Amino acid sequence: MSTDGDANTHWAPWSLRYSGHQFGVWAGQLGDGRAISILATPHPSDPELTYELQLKGAGRTPFSRTADGLAVLRSSIREFLCSEAMHALEIPTTRALALISLPELPVHRQRIEGACVLTRLAPSFLRIGSFEALNPPGNTFFIGGGQQDAHWDALTELGEWVGRRVLKLGPVKWDEGGAWGRELVMEVARRNARMVAAWQAYGFMHGVINTDNVSVLGLTIDYGPYAFMDVFDPYHICNHSDQEGRYSYKDQPSMIIYALRALLNALAPLIGAEAELGGKAVSRGWADDASPEKLAAWRKSGLDLVKQDMETATVEICAAEYSRLMHKRLALRRLDTDDETRLVRPLLNLMEEHALDFHGTFRRLAFFRPSMVSDAPQSDAFIAGVLALTSEPDRLDRQKAVVDWRAWLERYAVRIMSERGEWSGEGDLDGKREAAAKAANPRFVLRQWVLEEVIRTVEQDADSGKRILRKVLQMACSPFEPWGAEGHDGSEDLLDAESDFSL
Ligand code: AMP
Ligand code: MG
Ligand code: MG
Repeated sequence: MSTDGDANTHWAPWSLRYSGHQFGVWAGQLGDGRAISILATPHPSDPELTYELQLKGAGRTPFSRTADGLAVLRSSIREFLCSEAMHALEIPTTRALALISLPELPVHRQRIEGACVLTRLAPSFLRIGSFEALNPPGNTFFIGGGQQDAHWDALTELGEWVGRRVLKLGPVKWDEGGAWGRELVMEVARRNARMVAAWQAYGFMHGVINTDNVSVLGLTIDYGPYAFMDVFDPYHICNHSDQEGRYSYKDQPSMIIYALRALLNALAPLIGAEAELGGKAVSRGWADDASPEKLAAWRKSGLDLVKQDMETATVEICAAEYSRLMHKRLALRRLDTDDETRLVRPLLNLMEEHALDFHGTFRRLAFFRPSMVSDAPQSDAFIAGVLALTSEPDRLDRQKAVVDWRAWLERYAVRIMSERGEWSGEGDLDGKREAAAKAANPRFVLRQWVLEEVIRTVEQDADSGKRILRKVLQMACSPFEPWGAEGHDGSEDLLDAESDFSL
């Protein structure tokens, strides 16, 4: 279809082919099995940006294989709410626009459920698997003799499209063979590094980071068995079918790197040759003259360089972004090199050891005052409030926990006071810090039990369902607001479906 208003081109919805590695194993052809894009529209206030509208669960497509192309209410509600919750937390994500329930259309799963169509939006839904489909493992490009290789041409075309139109890369020499390949991989790496850093900082677990679920734009895409962290446990696995814990919380950054390697492998024939020549223009014409052995060696050495750069950039950007976000959560303005080892990690260790709620603990810390450490009753009261967030009160060694927390809070207090100068001119330091911390630590978290409650209500009664859905959407979209009384996460009054919430 055309987005430039050419009256001679006719409109048609589309679904795309892609492939991917699922749980580390090549999965062959996949594709938009139940997603149909209907149009791409310019962003109302940003003419540079185009949004693609996609219907998920809209019926069979050429890529549905043996499946029905449908989606059920439960999974659609989960995607709808979480994509908006993620956006409100400033985590890059595809967006959700509308949810249409079709209870009269039966969908056969473990039981018969009602169908649902979700309208979602993104500048592009292209993923790493889109590239893998054009150069599957074991594929050998036929280079030489001037013959056409359909895969090679398609890969080049897709790469140029993504580079120019999706990633809007700067001054890349598009006409010079594979010059864009390295830039493309590096930009996809940078974007995904920032995305996964935000997942880690906000305790988001995706659950299925297969390469077909990793966006080239670095957006969180495909909400399945995801979960937000409750009690802090770095080993947590939110996907029940992930027995090996491949996609556990702590392994998410490595799994993004795994996916980026898959992208690099898919683009290898182009990138390898390019990198070896140190930026000299490479074209198929050049490749035609090389022996296959020589070409393979060139590619490998060139590719290794890009791989190193890509992985280094991913690790560094992920660490820097994670650190930036953790400082924001702790309402610290300056980044000291030892903050990670002296503050952040020890805090997470305390949460893990004392089985504390991850988001609850951060929110509680917004109310900490450095002056508390020199006032034993105040300090003890604050620590008691933190320890009340444990899920295992009977297993808690209270005396030791209090000593550990005192030590950590003392360090935190010193660190806060070392920034006094940086907040100068802004009046009351404690009040300003509290406001900053509250604006970085959600009051409302889209927890599993909230989702269960919404789904149960929607399935039981359409009117109360709509009410609770609106209310949770509103809370998810404004997660830092003071919902209900402080000290709870605000979601308890969800059950009060009669309360007046309108969007
Ligand atoms: P996922 O694990 O959600 O990433 O899905 C993997 C693949 O299965 C994707 O290509 C989906 O499009 C496809 N798929 C999942 N559910 C359906 C369905 N109900 N109908 C058609 N394709 C599906
Ligand atoms: Mg998927
Ligand atoms: Mg899915």
